[in-house]
Amino acid sequence: MNFDVAIVGSGLAGLNVALNLAETRRVAILAKRAASVGASDWAQGGIAAVLDSSDSIDNHVGDTLVAGGGLCDEAATRFIVENGRAAIEWLIDEGVPFTRDGSAELGFHLTREGGHSHRRIIRAADATGHAVVTTLSERVRRHPNITVLEDHYAIDLITSDRLGLPGHRWTAGPSLPRALRAGPRLGPHGDHSGAAHRARDGRRGQVYLYTTNPDTATGDGIAMAWRAGCRVANMEFIQFHPTCLFHPYAKSFLISEAVRSEGGILRLPDGTRFMCPRTTSAPNSRRAILSRGRSTSRSRSAASTACISTSAISRARFSKNISTVLMPPALRRRAV
Ligand SMILES: Cc1cc2nc3c(=O)[nH]c(=O)nc-3n(C[C@H](O)[C@H](O)[C@H](O)COP(=O)(O)OP(=O)(O)OC[C@H]3O[C@@H](n4cnc5c(N)ncnc54)[C@H](O)[C@@H]3O)c2cc1C
Repeated sequence: MNFDVAIVGSGLAGLNVALNLAETRRVAILAKRAASVGASDWAQGGIAAVLDSSDSIDNHVGDTLVAGGGLCDEAATRFIVENGRAAIEWLIDEGVPFTRDGSAELGFHLTREGGHSHRRIIRAADATGHAVVTTLSERVRRHPNITVLEDHYAIDLITSDRLGLPGHRWTAGPSLPRALRAGPRLGPHGDHSGAAHRARDGRRGQVYLYTTNPDTATGDGIAMAWRAGCRVANMEFIQFHPTCLFHPYAKSFLISEAVRSEGGILRLPDGTRFMCPRTTSAPNSRRAILSRGRSTSRSRSAASTACISTSAISRARFSKNISTVLMPPALRRRAV
């Protein structure tokens, strides 16, 4: 097998790049495990974009800069926000079954979360990532120019430097463990200018003791890129969720912000309501404020955990809007 492009990662990023390149190139997508295993499949809440005329790009940029605590790159923020609607429209065209709302301008339900001042989160119930991955994976599997290689680990990038070839750090392709080398050939290794490689291999949450990220999020892509000579920066910025299940003998999984949005209340083990120190913010605070508050109060008190009381949420509302919490992805797969 020969390919023009090898993409490391079968999440939303990898699937998106593959579908865009496959019209003119033969593409291989590598995934460590089954193609569906990754953060993309686990994303619950939804995707933010300006999708209603009562909202504006400036509002979304402003909210993001505030939520970013002064650390966002404004030009990058604006670029992402300005291109959000086109990305959502592409997903709609691909057939992603976002939750509909006949009274909304675009015809889809928009919700409001965290630091957003407007309703701008488009979602597919509370399993948006699963809906996006299922739809795009189906398109990928039917595409004649795309081959998905599951259970294939990339371990390093082959660069012109390493092959002793001229040229400025061209990437010839990902290198696979010895056992796999007899298998597919990823790019014409001797002719580095003919092959391309795209690392879309997600995140690195597993460097932390507790994380809501999947087991595959071990930071390989960053390490590979760094060994190939890429600059690595801003490593302190990592996606986190302020509330997850904590059990000493079970893996943590996300207790989505939607639980607090629907009326869940954070309480300390003695039953008192959790308030963020200094800000006196209550449960629906922005992610960063809540997390800072959690970490401060944890170090101040002997209690290592808080609880989310969901007694105010009706059973019907629970199963309609936040049912993924009752059946997280790992269990869902086992149940199928
Ligand atoms: C629990 C949870 C909830 C979330 N909720 C939301 C939300 O509501 N809204 C939102 O916008 N975002 C959310 N996110 C974030 C969002 O899911 C991610 O930003 C996004 O899915 C990242 O996509 P990706 O394609 O980069 O990575 P992933 O989907 O993680 O895919 C990574 C891929 O790389 C492969 N890979 C990695 N290393 C190698 C290797 N060495 N060799 C071969 N393959 C490799 C993996 O097998 C996998 O296929 C959430 C994340 C989590 C974990």
